[in-house]
Amino acid sequence: MQAFLHSRFRRNKENDAARKIRRGCLYMRKTMLYANYHTHTYRCGHASMEPDEAYVKAAIETGIRILGFTDHCPWPYSESFYKRGVRMHMSELDEYIASIRGLAEKYKDSIKIYVGLECEFFEEFLPYIERYHEMVDYLLLGVHWRKSEEAGEISSSNAVTPEHLSWFSENTIRGMKSGLFRYVNHPDHLFSSYPVFDEYCEKASREICKAALETHLPLEYNLGGAGKGERGGFTGLGYPCPGFWKIAAEMGCQAIVGIDAHSTEPIYNTARIERAVSYLRSIGMEPLRVLEGLE
Ligand SMILES: [Zn+2]
Ligand SMILES: [Zn+2]
Repeated sequence: MQAFLHSRFRRNKENDAARKIRRGCLYMRKTMLYANYHTHTYRCGHASMEPDEAYVKAAIETGIRILGFTDHCPWPYSESFYKRGVRMHMSELDEYIASIRGLAEKYKDSIKIYVGLECEFFEEFLPYIERYHEMVDYLLLGVHWRKSEEAGEISSSNAVTPEHLSWFSENTIRGMKSGLFRYVNHPDHLFSSYPVFDEYCEKASREICKAALETHLPLEYNLGGAGKGERGGFTGLGYPCPGFWKIAAEMGCQAIVGIDAHSTEPIYNTARIERAVSYLRSIGMEPLRVLEGLE
């Protein structure tokens, strides 16, 4: 009995230690990312309510040297349509920029901080995109719709036909060719709900990758999608989509890893980041360390 209790006690102690090591692997190891240019804030309405400063502290703790904030940009929606929960309100934009600029100054000795915006490519709102381009350090192209949500069209999360795929690939390519963006967020978002990687997926992937080569824009391997996939959150192929990334690698595109942080947890989840980098290397892609001019 004594021996049994002793071994049980030992086993529990070992389990505690193993748990600590496992947690250490997940949350305490230094990150492989030098820069993360894709970070949201509570203003978009679907991120955690943590203050902006919490993201800065998480980045410093894990060893990120460059942190870019790119919350979802506002659009001039009518107030009656405006839905909290997708993007910041127009009235929050100046305060968002001021908050991030303030943190950049406060933490300038520890980390380099940039303020940007993640934008759709809504051609009807092109003057807004051009204005944002002047206001912030950089824009990222994050296609979730091809027209304003107010137009009532489906999101790329719900693309299920070849025609839907072409809507979103064409819109993405037009955005890439505008010259207003520094990289493409989740270029494979359009496969979220699409059932199988067929010839239409291949066509859309090749066209996006060809445009990336022509415009010299990196393609983001999106860890928001990776996390959602781990939780079984997709009804279709999901993203990052291996079929897409194999084509991107074969065509010689440039990958960049983006955390797409909507809370501080994915910044601390350095194991997920390591898996992404290892996967990209396994298919022959070396992810970009830093964006030129945003070093
Ligand atoms: Zn978001
Ligand atoms: Zn994002």
